[in-house]
Amino acid sequence: MSTLVFVEHHGNELQKGSLGVLSKAATLGEGDVAAVLVGAGVKALASEVATYGAAKVYVAEDASLDPPLPQSRVDVLAKVVRDGGYDTVLFANSVLAADIAAGLAARLDAGLNWDLVDVVQQDGRLVGKRPALQDSVLVDVGWTSEPRLALFRAGSFDATAGAGGEPQIEDVAVELEEHSRGAKVVDQQLEESSGPSIEDADVIVAGGRGLGSPDKFTLAEELARALGGAVGATRAVVDAGWYPYASQIGQTGKTVSPKLYVALGISGAIQHKVGMQSSNVIVAINKDANAPIFEFSDLGVVGDLHEIVPKLTALLNQRKGA
Ligand SMILES: Cc1cc2nc3c(=O)[nH]c(=O)nc-3n(C[C@H](O)[C@H](O)[C@H](O)COP(=O)(O)OP(=O)(O)OC[C@H]3O[C@@H](n4cnc5c(N)ncnc54)[C@H](O)[C@@H]3O)c2cc1C
Repeated sequence: MSTLVFVEHHGNELQKGSLGVLSKAATLGEGDVAAVLVGAGVKALASEVATYGAAKVYVAEDASLDPPLPQSRVDVLAKVVRDGGYDTVLFANSVLAADIAAGLAARLDAGLNWDLVDVVQQDGRLVGKRPALQDSVLVDVGWTSEPRLALFRAGSFDATAGAGGEPQIEDVAVELEEHSRGAKVVDQQLEESSGPSIEDADVIVAGGRGLGSPDKFTLAEELARALGGAVGATRAVVDAGWYPYASQIGQTGKTVSPKLYVALGISGAIQHKVGMQSSNVIVAINKDANAPIFEFSDLGVVGDLHEIVPKLTALLNQRKGA
């Protein structure tokens, strides 16, 4: 088995999800694992990538690759897969990675299994694990041809850095197809935020309609800050304009699986549940003892969040200060 992992970066920061996929690939135990970095000024990140289990890091560096566009990355990956003879290509889900994986599948006439949460070697074959029926079962999925492409759900694997030797770095000559030069990024807006993104966070504090008003999201933000986490939201509050869509969790938002998910004033509708139920530990604070969220929480607190959350945040800050 020869595996290639697409490692995504934003600026100088490697995306934790793709490092998690790389760490996982390194534990599959068959053959060397290579990573590919694509962008402008990415060579400096190669050594760091190696610590997550890549024996070889392909570096495609070119100013034309600076805008985060998928087609140019499909060109680079198709070349690396063909020249290097890789039979398996793995991606961590993101808006960009999903586009690249789909484009690469079309370019190489390859099968892509998406929304996987795990992959194992079983009887000498690679088997992907894909949640189905609103995440109530895991289905085994495979590939009938090579290369095998897979896209993993955010938070599926921990990114574990090891010692990592000096990686073998291979520069990739960048030759873009004519059609890959067609799209241009004319403007990029960066959302100002502090702390981790909800895709990367180990802790998410999510707020629902029970917060009562948009300004009360500060309760979720302060608790998230105290826990070193990110803030999520339900569709009800996003639709009401209380919080940005980027933080929506659920069927029509993001799927997350942090170590800790704290739900504040969230009823636990099925459309929200499917986006967060694979979190390690779910803590819910809700004033209604019959709220559905308590049916799938590890810890439930029945009470008024406006009384409980400020005290919880103060306690956490006090402990941190001590
Ligand atoms: C096609 C479709 C797609 C959808 N996609 C999504 C999605 O991606 N994500 C999503 O979240 N939803 C989604 N929804 C909407 C979903 O069905 C629910 O309407 C939504 O999740 C409810 O949000 P909520 O829990 O914030 O609000 P509510 O259901 O109104 O719940 C508010 C909760 O707060 C509690 N509460 C009130 N006051 C307090 C207080 N002072 N202290 C403590 N608790 C309090 C109440 O007891 C209640 O349980 C979708 C719906 C459809 C039809």
